[in-house]
Amino acid sequence: MTQPDPSRVKLRPGFPARLAVPKAPVAPLRPATSARPLPAPKPMTHLAHGVGLDSSAVRQSMVNKLAQQGMTDAPVLQAMGRIERHRFVDTALVNQAYEDTSLPIGLGQTISKPGVVCRMLGLLRQGSPGPLGRVLEIGTGCGYQTALLSLLCHEVYSMERLRGLHDKARDNLRHLRLANVHLLFGDGMPGYARGAPYAGIIAAAGGEAVPQAWIDQLAVGGRLVAPVSVGATGAGKQVLMVVDKTPQGVQQTVMEGVFFVPLKSGIA
Ligand code: SAH
Repeated sequence: MTQPDPSRVKLRPGFPARLAVPKAPVAPLRPATSARPLPAPKPMTHLAHGVGLDSSAVRQSMVNKLAQQGMTDAPVLQAMGRIERHRFVDTALVNQAYEDTSLPIGLGQTISKPGVVCRMLGLLRQGSPGPLGRVLEIGTGCGYQTALLSLLCHEVYSMERLRGLHDKARDNLRHLRLANVHLLFGDGMPGYARGAPYAGIIAAAGGEAVPQAWIDQLAVGGRLVAPVSVGATGAGKQVLMVVDKTPQGVQQTVMEGVFFVPLKSGIA
C-alpha cells in the first residue's frame, strides 16, 4: 500500500482549526436518517445580496431541474438546496451560479456542473440509507462539493494540490463553520492513508487509471467514484468509474462520459 510522503501532505489550520488528524474508529457505512444540520446562515455580505441569489427559491429551482433530469437521491438534493453555490464562484460569475454549467474558479480549474456533482454524490451514496462514514475527496477546488459532502458524511478529508485553491476553499467554507471537514494541502494521488479506511472516495480530476492507493484506502463495503481517461493517451475522453470494494473483491463499473480537469501529481 502506498504511504503518504509527509513532506508533500501538509495539514493547514482550518475552520475550525483541527491540526491533528484523529485516528478515530471508522464507521464506514453507518446508517442514519437525514442530512446533518447546518448552522443558521449568517447575514450576507456578498455582492449577490439583494439580487435574489441568497433566496432559497433560486436553489430550489436548480434542485427541481435536477430532479426532473432523474436525480432521485433526496439527501443529495436537499444538500444542494442548502449550500449556496454562488458563494463559491467569482463575483463576476454569480449570476450563472445556479445554471447547470461548470465555471472557472482560477488557476485553470473549474467548479463542476451541478448536474455532474449531483450524479456523482448520488452514486457515492447509492445503497446507503443515511450519511456515509469517512469520505476522501480528491480535488477540493473552490470547496463547493466539500460543503455538500459535509452534510452527507460523518467526516470529510479533502485534498487539493494547488495552494491558491486550497486557501480559496478555506475562505469560501469559513462561514459554514463545518466541524467535520479537514482541508489538506497536498497531492491526492497517493490518497491520504492517515484517514483510511474510507467509506467513500470521490475525485474531481481524472487520471489515466484509478490510483491503486485509493482502492487500498477504501473500506470493504466502500465505494469510489472518479473520472478516468479512456482510449489513446491525451485524447481527452473520460468516463465516470465506480469502484466497489466488496468482501469478494473489487468491482469496477464504467458509467457515462464526462469532462474533468486532469489529475496531476505534485503540489504547486
Ligand atoms: N469539486 C471541485 C472541483 C475542482 S476541479 C469544486 O467544487 O470546485 C478539480 C480539482 O482537482 C482542481 O482544483 C485540481 O487542482 C485538483 N487536483 C488535480 N490533481 C490533484 C491531485 N493529484 N491532488 C489533489 N488535487 C488535485
